[in-house]
Amino acid sequence: MKVFKSALLLHSELANQRKMGRSIGFVPTMGALHEGHLALVERAREGNDTVVCSIFVNPRQFNDAQDLQAYPRSIEDDMEKLMAAQVDILFLPEYADVYGADDVHETIDLNGLDHVLEGRQRPGHFQGVAQVVKRFFEQVQPNRAYFGQKDFQQTVVIRRLLNLHFPDIQLVVCPIIRESNGLAMSSRNERLSTDGRNKAGFIFHTLLRLRERCHFKSLQESLEISRDYLQSKKGVTLEYLEAVDGLTMKTVQDLEDASNIVAVVVVQFEGVRLLDNIILKNAAGN
Ligand code: AMP
Repeated sequence: MKVFKSALLLHSELANQRKMGRSIGFVPTMGALHEGHLALVERAREGNDTVVCSIFVNPRQFNDAQDLQAYPRSIEDDMEKLMAAQVDILFLPEYADVYGADDVHETIDLNGLDHVLEGRQRPGHFQGVAQVVKRFFEQVQPNRAYFGQKDFQQTVVIRRLLNLHFPDIQLVVCPIIRESNGLAMSSRNERLSTDGRNKAGFIFHTLLRLRERCHFKSLQESLEISRDYLQSKKGVTLEYLEAVDGLTMKTVQDLEDASNIVAVVVVQFEGVRLLDNIILKNAAGN
């Protein structure tokens, strides 16, 4: 595995690879890697000649300085995992390698996606995500980019970015990888106590029950029951549980309102924000 800190050197290495006709798959991450990240790498490995992974804890997407400071970092462990997963190139930039010495902030028109749900809870977050991914796409110029359904709204933001600026890059959204109790894997899970981590499977189980219930009760009634359940749980603060159009992130009232519907949830548990989601309906009609 070749490791690049400089965007310029990375750029010229990838230009060579492209000249040789090699396809490039790109997996951006913030490190503290777990099986969720490695599943993206595996998909990229299957579909491309060269796999590029980045590890960069992007300050621009943190709206909370404490959260940024507390974000887990484990670079040596991460590098071992990426080598074992046969990543060809690891991009490990510093802030200035990504944004340039002049640190320009370019606002990207996210069509309001950055102001709803996760965007409303974390002002500036999706602008930060879109800005860093735009820089990475310019630097890496991949054929395919791999993102997890775990951060569902992020995949919608990336699709918007691709439509605006990179129509030739293919977005591959990979399924959520879960711990054995159903908790969606996340670098932030490391901040839970052992007991909390064991109990946190309730989030996914609530989503599973919601998916079942909304086929025999109305969607709104089903959501209310699930919200009440989450709010009644000790130590849980519910930030939101909504059913949204999976293409626009607009909330839907009814299962007939859109062809792709996803239930998205965020709870705080032991002071950790935990995100999850489940597809209630997809374009195939199931
Ligand atoms: P992060 O390092 O948290 O920025 O995540 C990097 C990528 O890994 C994003 O595309 C995430 O959606 C994806 N990812 C994180 N956790 C999971 C998971 N449990 N299953 C699948 N993909 C994930």
